[in-house]
Amino acid sequence: MAGVLLGTAAGDALGAGYEFTRPGEHVPIDMIGGGLGDFAPGEWTDDTAMALAIALAADERRPGLDLDAVAAGFVRWYESGPADIGVQTSKVLSGRPASAAAMRARSDALAGRTGGNGSLMRTAPIALVHLDDPSACDRAAAEVSLLTHSDPQAAEACRIWTLGIRHAVLHANFDGVRAAADALDTAADWHRLLDEAETGGPGHFPNNGWVVHALQTAWWAVTTTDANSPDHLAAALARCVRAGGDTDTTAAIAGGLLGARWGASAVPSRWRDMLHGYPGLTGADLVALAERITPGFGPSA
Ligand SMILES: [Mg+2]
Repeated sequence: MAGVLLGTAAGDALGAGYEFTRPGEHVPIDMIGGGLGDFAPGEWTDDTAMALAIALAADERRPGLDLDAVAAGFVRWYESGPADIGVQTSKVLSGRPASAAAMRARSDALAGRTGGNGSLMRTAPIALVHLDDPSACDRAAAEVSLLTHSDPQAAEACRIWTLGIRHAVLHANFDGVRAAADALDTAADWHRLLDEAETGGPGHFPNNGWVVHALQTAWWAVTTTDANSPDHLAAALARCVRAGGDTDTTAAIAGGLLGARWGASAVPSRWRDMLHGYPGLTGADLVALAERITPGFGPSA
């Protein structure tokens, strides 16, 4: 289960140096740092920082996931002055809402486009917290998304991906994504989008700052990279980055699912050794944190 957090962080730190570029086939993809926030090589960005706010909330108030603790973690991260932050997330957190209810009210009041990828990018730890309860997992994925993203498609994307990650941890395959889509009223729409990801290319889902195209980019990378290869995780993350756009976020999204399927050992050790970021954690810390918040693996609550 540690692969869920390590995969998220590895995708994020890998994509950070290429955000809003589209590296050509001959450009090597590595943890070069730089990017919009002038990150150090191996440093993760807002995607993992917000995912860790969720994981740390789960660690603080075990068992389960207390939404007020998550909201407080998001505000604490915001107050640390992050080098990058999504527009929509910033609009919500700048009011420093003091509870989950206040945060959601502020999110609900936002007008205009509210379907950014900023809730999907951080959803992976919820799968670990609720590994023992798919209904609770589904509910929490939607609730945490709604704290900052009122768009129903953002919540649906988070439900699909989080249940997909949970399934991948338990069953070591990617079938949970389609199964989660099946359970939605909008199942036909999501299956069509997943089909398009499997058969199309980045030109079919170019606006990957939007949650739907971000999910499609991640699913495209996961399903069109050779899954029989021992480096499926690393190759699929690099494929996400080559798709361009919001590279750290699409790779972080893919990384959560890939790490769930293949485990921590699939994240190259050189990358694991380089990983670090808010709030002063390393790759090794992510492994320990993942174990603590996963029921049945951490210390009893
Ligand atoms: Mg980022």
